[in-house]
Amino acid sequence: MLADRVAVPRRLVDSFGRQMGDLRISITDRCNFRCVYCMPEDGLQWLKNERILTFDEIVRLARLFVHMGITGIRLTGGEPTVRNGLPELVRMLKPLEAEGLESLSVTTNGFRLDELSGPLAAAGLTRINVSLDSLVREKFHKITRRDCLDRVLRGLEELEKHPTIAPIKVNVVAMRGFSEEEIIPFAELARRKPYVVRWIEFMPLDADGNWRREQVLAGQEIHDVIHRWRPLIPVDARASSTSRLYRFADGIGEVGFINPVSEPFCSTCDRLRLTADGQIRTCLFSLEEWDLRAAMRAGASDVELAAIVQQAVSQKELKHRINEGPAFQRASRSMSQIGG
Ligand code: SAM
Repeated sequence: MLADRVAVPRRLVDSFGRQMGDLRISITDRCNFRCVYCMPEDGLQWLKNERILTFDEIVRLARLFVHMGITGIRLTGGEPTVRNGLPELVRMLKPLEAEGLESLSVTTNGFRLDELSGPLAAAGLTRINVSLDSLVREKFHKITRRDCLDRVLRGLEELEKHPTIAPIKVNVVAMRGFSEEEIIPFAELARRKPYVVRWIEFMPLDADGNWRREQVLAGQEIHDVIHRWRPLIPVDARASSTSRLYRFADGIGEVGFINPVSEPFCSTCDRLRLTADGQIRTCLFSLEEWDLRAAMRAGASDVELAAIVQQAVSQKELKHRINEGPAFQRASRSMSQIGG
């Protein structure tokens, strides 16, 4: 329970009337992959251990956010499975479900799912996103700079043995010149398996700074290719959901499109991010952060921490400016350092 529950505001609404509902918590900036659209091949400076929030600190802040109206928490990174004890953290966060948390999930590259699916299910995890950008070994190697497609596929198979974790969402970054030939194989995967395969447009968040607009393969183009192959039937999704979902008349899973570049959804954005070093970010493309770690470690009360959260939310950006030419400024950190 919060120490001073009454004095903590129950809703988080920004200056544009958007009520915050979703929090991404990065638990590490480290990753065992080096995806070309996210990290450099080498040379990224890791956060020092003492700057990274402890599990107790994460749980304290998560509880505060839940009491302020956050209903969805996703643990991410970096790669959350490279931090020891992820199932333990899930177990520590589970009680928040009795305090208002509706959904607790993990986003992972799947590399450790063969060993972690069981412990995560046992800890009470019910939702997961697995990133997988190619079903072809050489291409998987090229994009992740790691030759381990088989291991990730094994992890997905292992995950399927734990039906309490469902649906299994598979996230695919769409890059022109790379992803086109994967469109039908991934659609086939969604037909055959109980997966929700979601295409995500490539955003300018790569550490190398190589993003070019021409490399964005729009969700609508992918939709049209699949629809010509087999008709896609729309599935209702919640209003603030980032993805448009479809199913096949004769399939088990679903296909989704997350189109932040070609069809920005900022007007319904209800997301906040907490970096591994305890900074609040109100947009993936934020240039500014709010430091909860320093305040917490200096002895701030829940009411004082809540005031920092409110201050951050009151300044949440109206929208990203990817499509505004020179007005666009790259974010102050790259995706793996923010927590995607
Ligand atoms: N390592 C975990 C994983 O692979 O899912 C969690 C962190 S990763 C940063 C979260 C998601 O961000 C992944 O689905 C990844 O594909 C996506 N991502 C990273 N860089 C991106 C970019 N430049 N554009 C679009 N999506 C990106």
